[in-house]
Amino acid sequence: MSNTETTAAPNFIRNIIEEELANGKYEQICTRFPPEPNGYLHVGHAKSICLNFGLAEHFGGACNLRFDDTNPEKESQEYIDSIQEDVKWLGFNWAGKVRYTSEYFDTLYEYAVELIKAGKAYVCELNAEQMREYRGTLTEAGKDSPFRDRSVEENLDQFGRMRAGEFDDGAKVLRAKIDMSAPNINLRDPILYRIRRAHHHQTGDKWCIYPNYDFAHGQSDAIEGITHSICTLEFEDHRPLYNWFIENLPVPAQPKQIEFSRLNLNYTVTSKRKLKQLVDENHVAGWDDPRMPTISGMRRRGYTPNSIRKFCDMVGVTRSDGVVDVAMLYHALRSDLEENAPRAMCVLDPIKVTITNYPEDQVEEYVVPAHPAHEEMGERTVPFSRTLLIEAEDFMEDAPKKFFRLTQGREVRLRNSYVIKCEKVIKDENGKVVELLCTYDPETLGKNPEGRKVKGVIHWVSEAHAVPAEVRLYENLFTDENPDGHKDANFLDFINPESLTVTTGYCEPSLLTAVGEDSFQFERIGYFVADRYDHGVDGKLVFNKTVGLKDSWAKIQKKG
Ligand code: ATP
Ligand code: MG
Repeated sequence: MSNTETTAAPNFIRNIIEEELANGKYEQICTRFPPEPNGYLHVGHAKSICLNFGLAEHFGGACNLRFDDTNPEKESQEYIDSIQEDVKWLGFNWAGKVRYTSEYFDTLYEYAVELIKAGKAYVCELNAEQMREYRGTLTEAGKDSPFRDRSVEENLDQFGRMRAGEFDDGAKVLRAKIDMSAPNINLRDPILYRIRRAHHHQTGDKWCIYPNYDFAHGQSDAIEGITHSICTLEFEDHRPLYNWFIENLPVPAQPKQIEFSRLNLNYTVTSKRKLKQLVDENHVAGWDDPRMPTISGMRRRGYTPNSIRKFCDMVGVTRSDGVVDVAMLYHALRSDLEENAPRAMCVLDPIKVTITNYPEDQVEEYVVPAHPAHEEMGERTVPFSRTLLIEAEDFMEDAPKKFFRLTQGREVRLRNSYVIKCEKVIKDENGKVVELLCTYDPETLGKNPEGRKVKGVIHWVSEAHAVPAEVRLYENLFTDENPDGHKDANFLDFINPESLTVTTGYCEPSLLTAVGEDSFQFERIGYFVADRYDHGVDGKLVFNKTVGLKDSWAKIQKKG
């Protein structure tokens, strides 16, 4: 196994399904991904997407995309559109049409009526504060609501009038009649419907009552014939309620809820609410700012669908909570780009080199492979001339012996070109190095020099041929490992003031043909992607730094 490969981690849900299919419990599985359209998807959702769609793919089943749209005030078409785009971009296809919980509002209403008729639901008029008081606590049983013993007829009448808009928002709710002393608080007569005069993006003003998540979710799963309703661990305590509805309603299928632990990443916030705050308060340029852990942000940053899918495989699916090192995400990204990104040279902090023994007007054109290990990726042409730009940090005055780059009196190899020697250093009136006068050895093109070893290789561009580009350098958005985990500090306190630096890079001319979303390895620097939106506008080149070359994850793994 090469050190960039990694095996997939355990996935207990896949094991369960494998067994169920083997012993004939199911013939075909159906999963679903059920986002609330109240924000853009983030890397945590990617885990859920890869799991749900991945299982369907693996076992030849189906996975639905269903918008869980029971909170219309927080939802919007923009979010609906972005979520679909993200799922498709990750490379997954949902079965049939896009679904909405709101399509089932009529059926859900009928289900509620069924519960009332069976004496298992009632309209309650306690206000929010009383409701809390009656609910009890973890250690204390709740109390029955004074409205609990209304007759079926009265409840049917009340619920019908709730729907008809006869009462104010929040005046009444429909509750399930289960058990106010149940140890699991979710079973203490949970709310099924609330009155809310909100315009809905799908159903318009048809409804002024909306079902709660718990009442909508499992029934929607059943209506769609979902076999495995996979969700994160915080819903474990809701499972008895999920099952109670399935058992007490005439639903067409018996879906099974399975929980797994959510993805947490260090240096990263994965809560839609907080990500929305970053956007609303302009801490970032938008949901798809390349520093955001949103799928669209990662895309703009230069992540590939493969790298995200690979990362999700590496993380695995378990029931134990933990924090994943963001270095692992960078590792998955790097190993994908290492294989698939063509190479190019770009100098970010230039210093001028003049090859004094090279003819003034001569230009050589080197035809070099786009990728050293993949001939099929083609070739590029790199012009060489008398005046070059190299990276300022690749030159050092009075360098120590181990400095294998350029220093006065020593030689270095120019990538894809000759060996040069620094003869003279030119400084401005402030003592700043502004130019290096060098000589080249004409016998060293594609050949080692005779009788001596030259260890270092540096990148360069021909000054006259260099194409300037706007280069955006990104660092982690937060300086703290757990920005969201401090009692005495807000996550905004840890925003990294240096998370974005904009500079000018000098690119080899082959980069002129790059189009938005093309990825490259800028040799010796890192991976960069042509910005999805700004690259090419008015002929301007814009590259975003995706990730550097140094892999701290591979190092951690070796040590471990
Ligand atoms: P957030 O906590 O960011 O607001 P959410 O859970 O409210 O997210 P939903 O739109 O309800 O967002 O999520 C859709 C699906 O994605 C759910 O099944 C949810 O369990 C799953 N999901 C959300 N966050 C994560 C995460 N960090 N890791 C794994 N799955 C997640
Ligand atoms: Mg949610």
